[in-house]
Parts: sequence; structure tokens; C-alpha cells
Amino acid sequence: MSKILTRKYFAAAAAGLCLVIAYAAQLHSREDRILKAPLSFRKSILDVHSHLACLNNPGCYIRPGFRNTFKFKMYLKASGLQSTDLDRPDADDLMVNAYIKRLNESELYSSAIVYALDGFYDEHGDLDKNKTDILIPNDYIYGVTQKTSNLYFGASINPNKKDAITELEKVHSQGAKLVKWIPCIMGINLKNPPPHVEKFLDKMKELNMPLVTHTGFENTFSWADMDYCDPRNIETVLNKGITVIAAHAAISGKYDEKPGYTYLVELAQKYPNLYVDNSAGLFVNRMGFYKNIFLSHFQGRALQGTDYPLSYVGFAGFQAISLSQFKNEMLPFWYQYAKQTRNIHDLEAAIKIGLGTTLDDIKLSYKVFDIPYKSQVQ
Ligand SMILES: [Zn+2]
Repeated sequence: MSKILTRKYFAAAAAGLCLVIAYAAQLHSREDRILKAPLSFRKSILDVHSHLACLNNPGCYIRPGFRNTFKFKMYLKASGLQSTDLDRPDADDLMVNAYIKRLNESELYSSAIVYALDGFYDEHGDLDKNKTDILIPNDYIYGVTQKTSNLYFGASINPNKKDAITELEKVHSQGAKLVKWIPCIMGINLKNPPPHVEKFLDKMKELNMPLVTHTGFENTFSWADMDYCDPRNIETVLNKGITVIAAHAAISGKYDEKPGYTYLVELAQKYPNLYVDNSAGLFVNRMGFYKNIFLSHFQGRALQGTDYPLSYVGFAGFQAISLSQFKNEMLPFWYQYAKQTRNIHDLEAAIKIGLGTTLDDIKLSYKVFDIPYKSQVQ
């Protein structure tokens, strides 16, 4: 009898203990509802393509007509700011801080190369403010990156300006990781490069400075001469042995009836010094576009870029739509992660990883720009 009672008490106690454990586990899972990325991916990504704007620091310029456009207001909103914030005297700091906050709060990104952006110059080498929508001086970006340990300096020098080569030597001595061009808004002719452009490129080669150049149609600014962003034009630069990163892999636009990226696929076979970046790469995802182009055609050549603040998923309200189109192609974990994260950088990265981007793909960005990859895992 007593043995039976003891067994009953034991059974009841065991059942009770199970309930307590189950309850505790449930509480725990509630706390842990936000998914954590696998350790190896945490703080692993270098963003090789990001932008800041500025207004009040020396040399900063946003053309008044451009500043008031719907497009520009969208970009501001995507970085978490209001258009009225631009009227504040500390507008530049607000833009920097909003960016650093997003980067530092990201679980997947460690750091970023942030770009200056040069303007349009006339035939005398003088700045044409009517044809320049936005100018972000090298000195400004250099200053920002000096103050922030996980931001690297991406310079921009239009070779058409006076003293372009002197400026190139200066940014090189400051540790600039690259020179960024958008030939179709800067008026840089790479198809038939004039002697001063050739000279500038030779200096880049001598200094071992990589070139990031926009390829494909350009829709961000108020005007653009699309022929100047024809991806075939970059062969001039590749021929010199300069490392070229064809920004966006010319995924937007057709040239001579063929999609722009197909020319880059051909060039990549011929030139080992050609890379592309996958910034804006989710924008045009239709029927496996990202997988097909960046993970298949440019496997081992695609660097990680967000094009902050222009990235597709950056626009409030678009996240759910942009994510749902990838659902069937993504690994289930990363789909859930993307659904839950509040950080727009992490959302974009989760989609890319969920579609098949590997840690080796991620590490390539560090290698190309000679930035040490440190595992951030503690
Ligand atoms: Zn860009």
C-alpha cells in the first residue's frame, strides 16, 4: 500500500515537474521569439556600396530642384529622416547618425564603405551646378570615416575636373579604398576616353586604386546619359589591369537589345580583375533573378552592397511585398528571420543569404578591398 502511494506521489511529482519544465520552456521561447542569426553570420558583412548626403559642410551640395523632388524625399524617408530635417543646422550629422545607428544595430553587418560623389564638370574643368544633382566632397566623407571605426572611405573624383590627379593622390594618401563613378551623370566618356581620362586611369593603376563604376540604366537622378553607363565601356579600364567593380552588374536596362548584365558575364570570363556588386540586386527579382544573375553568372565575383539608402527594401511599406516574392526560393530559417527582423539592413541581408549567398561570398568583399575579415563572434 505504502509502496503504491509512494509511486503515486512520485508520479504526481514527476508530472508536476514536467509541467514546470514545459511552462519554463514556453516562457523561454516567448522571450526568444526574435530569431538569432547563426553565429558565423553575425557581424560578418562588409557593405561595399553605400551613400550619405550632406548640405552644410564645406563643398556639400544638393541642387535645390532635386532636393524638392519626390524621389529625394523617398530617399530621406528610407534613411529614417523627414524632409524638414534638412532645414536643421545639424542636418548632416542627423544623416550620419541615422546611418551609423542602422549599421550598428544590424546583427549581420559589421562595416561599410561609404561613398563621396563628385559632380558634373564643363569643358574647362569647372563644376556645373545645374547638371549636378548632388555633390558629396571627399573631404567630408574622409572626415566622417575618421570618426567612425567601422566606416571606410570611398572617394569620388570626376577625371574631367581640374586637378583631378592631384586629388587622386590626396585621397590615396588618406587611405581611400576606391574611386566611385557614375559616368552617365558625371559625363565621363569611357567609350572613347579623351587623353585626360586615360591619364587619370593610368594613375589609378599606378596607385592600385579600384574603380567602382555604375553600369546599366541610372534612374536615381534627374537626368542621365545612359550610353555613358553602357557596361561594354568598362573594357577600357579592365584592359589597364585596374580592379573594376561594375556596380549593380548592369541589371537595369538593355543595350543593343541585350540585357546589360550579359555583356558583363562575357567580360568577366575575359578579365579576372572584374567584379560586380549586388546592390539594388533584389529590386528586379522576378522568377529567380537574384539567384540566376548574382549567385550563378557571377559566382565568386559578386560583392555585397546595399546602395543605402536607395535599397528597394528600404522603403517603408515595401518590405512585406518584397519579401513575399522571395518566399518560395528562400531557406525557411532565413525567411522567418527576414520576417521578424526590425533592421532593414538585416532584412536585405537575410533575403540574400536565404537565396544562397554564402559566407565565402561575404568574405570576398573584404579581400577585394584589402580590409581584414575579423570574425565578430564573441
Ligand atoms: Zn549607389
